[in-house]
Amino acid sequence: MAATPTRPRMPRTADPARRRLVAGLAAAPFATLASGSPGAARAQAGDARWPGPIFDAHLHYNDEAWMGPHSLEDVFGRLQRAGVRGIIANSRPNEGTRSLANATERARAAGVTVVPFVRLYRNRADYNSWFADPTIVDLVNTELAAGTRAGPYRGLGEFHLYDNVNANGPVARQLMRLADERGLAVLAHVDDVAVDRLMAHGPGARLIWAHTGIGGTPPERVRELLQRYPKLIGELSYRPGLIGEAGGLSPAWREMLSAFPDRFLVGSDTWVNQRWMAYESLIETARRWLADLAAIDPRAARRVAWDNAATLFGLPEPG
Ligand SMILES: [Zn+2]
Repeated sequence: MAATPTRPRMPRTADPARRRLVAGLAAAPFATLASGSPGAARAQAGDARWPGPIFDAHLHYNDEAWMGPHSLEDVFGRLQRAGVRGIIANSRPNEGTRSLANATERARAAGVTVVPFVRLYRNRADYNSWFADPTIVDLVNTELAAGTRAGPYRGLGEFHLYDNVNANGPVARQLMRLADERGLAVLAHVDDVAVDRLMAHGPGARLIWAHTGIGGTPPERVRELLQRYPKLIGELSYRPGLIGEAGGLSPAWREMLSAFPDRFLVGSDTWVNQRWMAYESLIETARRWLADLAAIDPRAARRVAWDNAATLFGLPEPG
Protein backbone atom coordinates (compact mmCIF):
# COMPACT_ATOMS: atom_id res chain seq x y z
CA MET A 1 0.00 0.00 0.00
CA ALA A 2 2.95 2.29 0.64
CA ALA A 3 4.93 2.14 -2.57
CA THR A 4 3.93 4.23 -5.54
CA PRO A 5 4.18 1.99 -8.57
CA THR A 6 4.93 3.37 -11.98
CA ARG A 7 1.74 4.09 -13.77
CA PRO A 8 0.77 1.33 -16.14
CA ARG A 9 -0.50 2.19 -19.57
CA MET A 10 -3.53 0.50 -20.98
CA PRO A 11 -3.38 0.45 -24.76
CA ARG A 12 -6.75 1.40 -26.15
CA THR A 13 -6.96 -1.74 -28.18
CA ALA A 14 -6.44 -3.81 -25.04
CA ASP A 15 -9.93 -2.98 -23.84
CA PRO A 16 -11.93 -6.13 -24.51
CA ALA A 17 -15.27 -4.36 -24.28
CA ARG A 18 -14.17 -1.94 -26.96
CA ARG A 19 -13.12 -4.80 -29.16
CA ARG A 20 -16.49 -6.45 -28.63
CA LEU A 21 -18.33 -3.29 -29.57
CA VAL A 22 -16.16 -2.67 -32.58
CA ALA A 23 -16.55 -6.27 -33.64
CA GLY A 24 -20.30 -5.81 -33.68
CA LEU A 25 -21.34 -7.32 -30.37
CA ALA A 26 -20.41 -10.94 -30.50
CA ALA A 27 -21.47 -13.38 -27.84
CA ALA A 28 -20.47 -12.56 -24.29
CA PRO A 29 -17.21 -14.13 -23.19
CA PHE A 30 -18.60 -16.24 -20.42
CA ALA A 31 -15.40 -18.25 -20.25
CA THR A 32 -13.42 -15.30 -18.96
CA LEU A 33 -15.92 -14.91 -16.17
CA ALA A 34 -15.82 -18.51 -15.10
CA SER A 35 -19.54 -18.17 -14.80
CA GLY A 36 -21.31 -20.09 -17.48
CA SER A 37 -21.77 -23.78 -17.11
CA PRO A 38 -21.97 -25.12 -13.61
CA GLY A 39 -20.06 -28.06 -15.05
CA ALA A 40 -16.69 -29.64 -14.65
CA ALA A 41 -14.27 -27.02 -13.35
CA ARG A 42 -16.74 -25.30 -11.09
CA ALA A 43 -17.82 -28.51 -9.48
CA GLN A 44 -14.58 -28.54 -7.51
CA ALA A 45 -15.46 -25.24 -5.85
CA GLY A 46 -17.66 -26.96 -3.35
CA ASP A 47 -21.05 -25.69 -2.43
CA ALA A 48 -20.00 -22.67 -0.41
CA ARG A 49 -22.11 -19.71 -1.47
CA TRP A 50 -22.88 -16.35 0.10
CA PRO A 51 -26.57 -16.70 1.00
CA GLY A 52 -27.48 -13.09 1.77
CA PRO A 53 -29.01 -10.23 -0.21
CA ILE A 54 -27.16 -8.97 -3.29
CA PHE A 55 -27.18 -5.51 -4.81
CA ASP A 56 -26.48 -5.56 -8.56
CA ALA A 57 -24.64 -2.33 -9.30
CA HIS A 58 -24.33 -2.83 -13.05
CA LEU A 59 -27.63 -3.73 -14.65
CA HIS A 60 -28.78 -2.70 -18.12
CA TYR A 61 -32.26 -3.18 -19.52
CA ASN A 62 -31.47 -2.20 -23.08
CA ASP A 63 -34.03 -2.12 -25.86
CA GLU A 64 -33.01 -5.47 -27.34
CA ALA A 65 -33.86 -7.03 -23.96
CA TRP A 66 -37.33 -5.55 -23.48
CA MET A 67 -38.20 -5.62 -27.19
CA GLY A 68 -36.95 -9.20 -27.27
CA PRO A 69 -37.30 -12.09 -24.84
CA HIS A 70 -36.93 -10.26 -21.51
CA SER A 71 -40.20 -8.72 -20.42
CA LEU A 72 -40.45 -6.90 -17.09
CA GLU A 73 -41.99 -10.06 -15.69
CA ASP A 74 -39.03 -12.12 -16.90
CA VAL A 75 -36.52 -9.64 -15.45
CA PHE A 76 -38.15 -9.34 -12.02
CA GLY A 77 -38.50 -13.13 -11.93
CA ARG A 78 -34.78 -13.54 -12.56
CA LEU A 79 -33.87 -10.94 -9.90
CA GLN A 80 -36.10 -12.67 -7.38
CA ARG A 81 -34.76 -16.16 -8.14
CA ALA A 82 -31.19 -14.84 -7.87
CA GLY A 83 -31.84 -13.20 -4.50
CA VAL A 84 -30.97 -9.76 -5.90
CA ARG A 85 -32.72 -7.21 -3.67
CA GLY A 86 -31.52 -3.98 -5.24
CA ILE A 87 -30.24 -2.78 -8.62
CA ILE A 88 -28.67 0.18 -10.34
CA ALA A 89 -30.90 0.33 -13.41
CA ASN A 90 -29.48 2.00 -16.51
CA SER A 91 -30.36 1.41 -20.10
CA ARG A 92 -29.93 2.38 -23.72
CA PRO A 93 -32.17 4.27 -24.30
CA ASN A 94 -33.50 5.38 -20.90
CA GLU A 95 -36.95 3.86 -21.58
CA GLY A 96 -35.73 0.57 -20.14
CA THR A 97 -34.69 2.22 -16.88
CA ARG A 98 -37.99 4.08 -16.66
CA SER A 99 -40.00 0.90 -17.15
CA LEU A 100 -38.08 -0.82 -14.31
CA ALA A 101 -38.31 2.21 -12.03
CA ASN A 102 -41.99 2.82 -12.77
CA ALA A 103 -43.01 -0.80 -12.13
CA THR A 104 -43.16 -0.03 -8.43
CA GLU A 105 -45.72 -2.68 -7.51
CA ARG A 106 -43.92 -5.45 -9.37
CA ALA A 107 -40.63 -4.37 -7.79
CA ARG A 108 -42.19 -4.41 -4.33
CA ALA A 109 -43.62 -7.87 -4.94
CA ALA A 110 -40.16 -9.08 -6.01
CA GLY A 111 -38.57 -7.36 -2.99
CA VAL A 112 -36.30 -5.31 -5.27
CA THR A 113 -35.29 -1.68 -4.76
CA VAL A 114 -34.64 0.05 -8.09
CA VAL A 115 -32.00 2.79 -8.06
CA PRO A 116 -32.30 4.57 -11.42
CA PHE A 117 -29.32 6.11 -13.25
CA VAL A 118 -29.53 8.30 -16.36
CA ARG A 119 -27.66 6.75 -19.23
CA LEU A 120 -26.09 9.02 -21.84
CA TYR A 121 -27.02 6.86 -24.81
CA ARG A 122 -29.98 7.05 -27.14
CA ASN A 123 -28.42 4.42 -29.40
CA ARG A 124 -25.17 2.54 -29.98
CA ALA A 125 -23.59 5.40 -31.91
CA ASP A 126 -23.66 7.54 -28.74
CA TYR A 127 -21.17 5.19 -27.01
CA ASN A 128 -18.45 6.60 -29.22
CA SER A 129 -19.51 10.23 -29.51
CA TRP A 130 -21.31 11.36 -26.33
CA PHE A 131 -18.24 13.12 -24.94
CA ALA A 132 -18.22 15.53 -27.91
CA ASP A 133 -21.99 16.02 -28.12
CA PRO A 134 -23.47 18.88 -26.05
CA THR A 135 -27.03 17.57 -26.66
CA ILE A 136 -26.16 14.73 -24.25
CA VAL A 137 -26.12 17.26 -21.40
CA ASP A 138 -29.64 18.35 -22.41
CA LEU A 139 -30.75 14.73 -22.46
CA VAL A 140 -29.38 14.23 -18.95
CA ASN A 141 -31.01 17.39 -17.60
CA THR A 142 -34.38 16.50 -19.13
CA GLU A 143 -34.24 13.03 -17.63
CA LEU A 144 -33.15 14.31 -14.20
CA ALA A 145 -36.01 16.82 -14.19
CA ALA A 146 -38.56 14.12 -15.02
CA GLY A 147 -37.43 11.60 -12.40
CA THR A 148 -39.17 8.24 -12.01
CA ARG A 149 -41.92 6.68 -9.95
CA ALA A 150 -39.21 4.97 -7.87
CA GLY A 151 -37.87 8.42 -7.01
CA PRO A 152 -35.27 10.77 -8.46
CA TYR A 153 -32.37 9.54 -10.52
CA ARG A 154 -29.41 8.80 -8.26
CA GLY A 155 -26.59 8.74 -10.77
CA LEU A 156 -25.26 9.05 -14.30
CA GLY A 157 -23.96 6.26 -16.52
CA GLU A 158 -22.81 3.77 -17.38
CA PHE A 159 -20.73 5.69 -19.87
CA HIS A 160 -17.66 4.51 -21.74
CA LEU A 161 -14.42 6.31 -22.52
CA TYR A 162 -12.32 4.14 -24.81
CA ASP A 163 -9.75 6.92 -25.10
CA ASN A 164 -8.97 8.56 -21.78
CA VAL A 165 -8.19 11.88 -23.48
CA ASN A 166 -11.96 12.32 -23.80
CA ALA A 167 -12.25 12.44 -20.00
CA ASN A 168 -10.99 15.99 -20.44
CA GLY A 169 -13.61 16.90 -23.05
CA PRO A 170 -16.29 19.50 -22.30
CA VAL A 171 -19.18 17.06 -21.82
CA ALA A 172 -17.32 14.83 -19.36
CA ARG A 173 -16.23 17.90 -17.39
CA GLN A 174 -19.75 19.28 -17.32
CA LEU A 175 -21.32 15.99 -16.24
CA MET A 176 -18.75 15.39 -13.48
CA ARG A 177 -19.43 18.89 -12.14
CA LEU A 178 -23.16 18.23 -12.33
CA ALA A 179 -22.75 14.96 -10.42
CA ASP A 180 -20.65 16.71 -7.79
CA GLU A 181 -23.19 19.53 -7.34
CA ARG A 182 -26.28 17.31 -7.34
CA GLY A 183 -24.92 14.46 -5.22
CA LEU A 184 -25.19 11.96 -8.06
CA ALA A 185 -23.04 8.87 -8.38
CA VAL A 186 -21.31 8.17 -11.69
CA LEU A 187 -20.89 4.70 -13.25
CA ALA A 188 -17.93 4.92 -15.61
CA HIS A 189 -16.32 2.28 -17.83
CA VAL A 190 -12.89 3.86 -18.13
CA ASP A 191 -9.21 3.15 -17.59
CA ASP A 192 -7.16 4.24 -14.60
CA VAL A 193 -5.89 7.43 -16.26
CA ALA A 194 -9.47 8.53 -16.92
CA VAL A 195 -10.30 7.90 -13.24
CA ASP A 196 -7.71 10.53 -12.31
CA ARG A 197 -9.11 12.93 -14.89
CA LEU A 198 -12.77 12.47 -13.96
CA MET A 199 -12.04 12.86 -10.25
CA ALA A 200 -10.24 16.12 -11.00
CA HIS A 201 -13.42 17.50 -12.65
CA GLY A 202 -15.79 16.36 -9.88
CA PRO A 203 -13.77 15.73 -6.71
CA GLY A 204 -16.93 15.45 -4.62
CA ALA A 205 -18.70 12.98 -6.93
CA ARG A 206 -18.95 9.32 -6.03
CA LEU A 207 -17.34 7.51 -8.93
CA ILE A 208 -18.29 3.86 -9.40
CA TRP A 209 -15.54 2.41 -11.57
CA ALA A 210 -17.31 -0.11 -13.80
CA HIS A 211 -15.33 -3.39 -13.86
CA THR A 212 -12.56 -1.74 -11.77
CA GLY A 213 -10.42 -1.57 -14.89
CA ILE A 214 -11.68 -3.95 -17.56
CA GLY A 215 -8.28 -3.83 -19.25
CA GLY A 216 -6.71 -5.42 -16.18
CA THR A 217 -5.38 -2.38 -14.30
CA PRO A 218 -2.79 -3.91 -11.93
CA PRO A 219 -4.08 -4.39 -8.37
CA GLU A 220 -1.37 -2.11 -6.96
CA ARG A 221 -2.62 0.71 -9.20
CA VAL A 222 -6.23 0.01 -8.11
CA ARG A 223 -5.08 0.33 -4.48
CA GLU A 224 -3.28 3.57 -5.23
CA LEU A 225 -6.47 5.06 -6.73
CA LEU A 226 -8.66 3.83 -3.85
CA GLN A 227 -6.27 5.44 -1.38
CA ARG A 228 -6.12 8.69 -3.31
CA TYR A 229 -9.88 9.04 -3.88
CA PRO A 230 -12.08 8.21 -0.88
CA LYS A 231 -15.21 8.50 -3.09
CA LEU A 232 -14.02 5.94 -5.64
CA ILE A 233 -15.81 2.57 -5.56
CA GLY A 234 -15.02 -0.45 -7.72
CA GLU A 235 -17.72 -2.55 -9.42
CA LEU A 236 -16.47 -6.04 -10.14
CA SER A 237 -18.21 -7.50 -13.23
CA TYR A 238 -15.69 -8.67 -15.87
CA ARG A 239 -12.76 -7.71 -13.60
CA PRO A 240 -9.80 -9.67 -14.98
CA GLY A 241 -8.03 -11.77 -12.36
CA LEU A 242 -10.84 -11.56 -9.78
CA ILE A 243 -11.66 -15.25 -9.75
CA GLY A 244 -9.05 -17.83 -8.89
CA GLU A 245 -9.00 -21.56 -8.38
CA ALA A 246 -12.31 -23.37 -8.25
CA GLY A 247 -14.48 -20.26 -8.40
CA GLY A 248 -13.09 -18.55 -5.31
CA LEU A 249 -11.21 -15.26 -5.28
CA SER A 250 -7.67 -15.07 -6.61
CA PRO A 251 -5.08 -14.39 -3.88
CA ALA A 252 -4.56 -10.81 -5.09
CA TRP A 253 -8.28 -10.02 -4.96
CA ARG A 254 -8.88 -11.83 -1.69
CA GLU A 255 -6.29 -9.46 -0.27
CA MET A 256 -7.82 -6.45 -2.03
CA LEU A 257 -11.37 -7.05 -0.85
CA SER A 258 -10.18 -7.79 2.67
CA ALA A 259 -8.19 -4.56 2.73
CA PHE A 260 -10.96 -2.38 1.20
CA PRO A 261 -14.24 -4.10 2.11
CA ASP A 262 -16.18 -0.84 2.00
CA ARG A 263 -15.04 0.09 -1.53
CA PHE A 264 -16.44 -2.60 -3.85
CA LEU A 265 -19.78 -3.62 -5.36
CA VAL A 266 -21.13 -6.67 -7.20
CA GLY A 267 -22.41 -6.24 -10.77
CA SER A 268 -23.84 -8.45 -13.51
CA ASP A 269 -23.48 -6.18 -16.58
CA THR A 270 -26.43 -7.36 -18.67
CA TRP A 271 -25.10 -5.55 -21.74
CA VAL A 272 -26.41 -8.17 -24.19
CA ASN A 273 -29.29 -10.63 -23.94
CA GLN A 274 -26.91 -13.55 -23.40
CA ARG A 275 -26.15 -12.00 -20.02
CA TRP A 276 -29.85 -11.92 -19.18
CA MET A 277 -30.16 -15.57 -20.22
CA ALA A 278 -27.31 -16.38 -17.81
CA TYR A 279 -28.40 -13.93 -15.09
CA GLU A 280 -28.96 -16.38 -12.24
CA SER A 281 -25.65 -18.14 -12.95
CA LEU A 282 -23.79 -14.80 -13.04
CA ILE A 283 -25.10 -13.98 -9.58
CA GLU A 284 -24.32 -17.51 -8.44
CA THR A 285 -20.72 -16.94 -9.55
CA ALA A 286 -20.62 -13.86 -7.34
CA ARG A 287 -22.05 -15.87 -4.43
CA ARG A 288 -19.15 -18.31 -4.81
CA TRP A 289 -16.42 -15.70 -4.51
CA LEU A 290 -18.35 -13.83 -1.82
CA ALA A 291 -18.36 -17.08 0.17
CA ASP A 292 -14.60 -17.18 -0.19
CA LEU A 293 -14.42 -13.64 1.24
CA ALA A 294 -16.91 -14.52 3.98
CA ALA A 295 -14.65 -17.36 5.08
CA ILE A 296 -12.04 -14.74 6.00
CA ASP A 297 -14.37 -11.93 7.06
CA PRO A 298 -18.16 -12.36 6.99
CA ARG A 299 -18.75 -8.64 7.46
CA ALA A 300 -16.59 -7.84 4.43
CA ALA A 301 -18.69 -10.16 2.26
CA ARG A 302 -21.89 -8.57 3.54
CA ARG A 303 -20.51 -5.13 2.75
CA VAL A 304 -19.53 -5.94 -0.81
CA ALA A 305 -22.76 -7.85 -1.46
CA TRP A 306 -25.17 -5.31 0.02
CA ASP A 307 -24.12 -2.83 2.70
CA ASN A 308 -21.89 -0.63 0.55
CA ALA A 309 -24.74 0.00 -1.89
CA ALA A 310 -27.17 0.46 0.99
CA THR A 311 -24.92 3.17 2.44
CA LEU A 312 -24.36 4.79 -0.94
CA PHE A 313 -28.06 5.06 -1.79
CA GLY A 314 -29.74 4.95 1.63
CA LEU A 315 -31.50 1.66 0.90
CA PRO A 316 -33.96 0.04 3.30
CA GLU A 317 -32.87 -3.20 4.92
CA PRO A 318 -34.19 -6.03 2.73
CA GLY A 319 -36.94 -7.88 4.56
ZN1 LIG B 1 -22.17 -2.10 -18.75
